[in-house]
Amino acid sequence: MSEKNLSEAGTPIKKNFIDLQIEQDLAEGKNNKRVHTRFPPEPNGYLHIGHAKSICLNFGTAEKYGGKTNLRFDDTNPSKEETEYVESIKEDVHWLGFDWEDRLYYASDYFDKLYEFAIQLIKKGKAYVDGQDAGTISSQKGTPTRPGTESPFRNSSVDENLDLFQRMKNGEFNEGAYVLRAKIDMASPNMHMRDPIIYRIMKAYHHRTGDKWCIYPMYDFAHGQSDYWEGITHSICTLEFEVHRPLYDWFIGQLQEADYRPRQIEFARLNLSYTVMSKRKLLELVKDGHVNGWDDPRMPTISGLRRRGYTPESIRNFAEKIGITKVDGMIDVSLLEHSIREHLNKTAQRVMGVLNPLKVVITNYPENQEEELEAVNNPEDESMGKRKVPFSKVLYIEHDDFMEDPPRKFFRLAPGREVRLRYAYFVTCNDVVKDENGQITELHCTCDPASKGGNSPDGRKVKATLHWVSAKHAIKSEVRLYDRLFNDEDPQGHKDIDFKEFMNKDSLKILDECYLEPFVKGAVPFSLFQFERLGYFNIDPDTTGGNMVFNRTVPLRDAWQKQKNK
Ligand code: ATP
Ligand code: MG
Repeated sequence: MSEKNLSEAGTPIKKNFIDLQIEQDLAEGKNNKRVHTRFPPEPNGYLHIGHAKSICLNFGTAEKYGGKTNLRFDDTNPSKEETEYVESIKEDVHWLGFDWEDRLYYASDYFDKLYEFAIQLIKKGKAYVDGQDAGTISSQKGTPTRPGTESPFRNSSVDENLDLFQRMKNGEFNEGAYVLRAKIDMASPNMHMRDPIIYRIMKAYHHRTGDKWCIYPMYDFAHGQSDYWEGITHSICTLEFEVHRPLYDWFIGQLQEADYRPRQIEFARLNLSYTVMSKRKLLELVKDGHVNGWDDPRMPTISGLRRRGYTPESIRNFAEKIGITKVDGMIDVSLLEHSIREHLNKTAQRVMGVLNPLKVVITNYPENQEEELEAVNNPEDESMGKRKVPFSKVLYIEHDDFMEDPPRKFFRLAPGREVRLRYAYFVTCNDVVKDENGQITELHCTCDPASKGGNSPDGRKVKATLHWVSAKHAIKSEVRLYDRLFNDEDPQGHKDIDFKEFMNKDSLKILDECYLEPFVKGAVPFSLFQFERLGYFNIDPDTTGGNMVFNRTVPLRDAWQKQKNK
């Protein structure tokens, strides 16, 4: 294999069908050997993990071939678009690690040019103004096997059309009174070629052009030309646009100056199990208060994943792992969870934290004594060093780590049993203290001073190692545990049942009395940790002053790895 086919790490770079197409175009010397892609979101919601796949693909492919990538907002529908979305999209693309440099565009940048192009089409007899209502126009469309019916407006004169289109633009008509249609072929087997609407009247304020326009181009009319005017060589898009391709080509063919054609290449969109991905549905969850905003850590949005503790690296690795195909399928959400575990296992600072505290008093440890014990910051990465963890007479352990009357397979703490407290001592439970309701309130244990550091003094073995926190040094925190937002593998795949019916009522659990070792004090929002034995957690931006709030990113148990090892 030649060096060029190896990544920095020396592993072979997998080539997908888009790479192969680009390489063929380069070999043929097309577009002066330029590679130029774009990511074209509509600013009508926050980006989700599906968009991340498209971002990684567009920016990643251009990077591979020394090309460029534009960010272009497809803002042709003013009624659904907001600047808040524009800002969030820019933030998310940057956060993922990609940069459009000075190539930020808006479809609205081309409104004048598109208008001029529409006039040209009318003058060439390739477009006409239709005064029928939407219902009538759609009833004339025909079916894929039956040709459509021509509109009575189809053969109006150029002058009549120019006059009506001008007056549409001047705001003389109500919304819906007239549309401009391309005059192509009402009998085409491709429904998109049956005189598609290219302009409609919308008396809406536009986030960039304000009240300048009351007619707006349709997405299909703006998209291909925007690609062309930006010099895009490869328009990578999802499969549903494959049938629009002939229409895009037809428009470019009508452009007077057209000297090249962006090549459209389609790939299958990402579907994730237990997740809904359409922006309309995500908007519904936000607007109706089913989640706490677009960046709710349960959301599949990039901002939600970021708040949850996902790193850009983990998302890019996920996109790389799933690859691209030409057939729609469903990716198991546990693969996404596997990607963040894989990254955090290598990078996350380990700390000890107790989520459901049970008080432990070490009866043979002096009242006012404290000491600092040495703990490893990350066993996967020695360079992360060690830290000191304070130990004292009163501690917390996890409630689940003790059973008064343990079944045979429970090896953790129980009356009369010895276990190891990680990095600290061997301790033996002697007494169980209960309140008047019979609830366990604390345990009395003794420690073996000769086992300091958690090492066996005489070779004797214990069957469990528990995490713990010194009560007087502990940082009391809130911890939010998340589960999947939906109970069903494909919540939008049920024909007559609304996707919200499948929402998991227990997707958020808040624990408000958790104890963390003091190391976490002062750590800023988005800092990531592994709580030993429990999972990966990050600091939520709701953290204020001394009130720390943590999110559980993922538990340690890796369903994906387990499946693979089977
Ligand atoms: P949604 O269907 O979620 O509302 P959309 O396709 O309307 O998404 P756009 O803003 O138009 O959203 O998408 C921008 C780009 O992201 C498009 O090129 C689109 O093909 C791509 N994209 C959208 N959803 C996915 C997905 N699930 N997987 C891969 N790419 C996607
Ligand atoms: Mg879209």
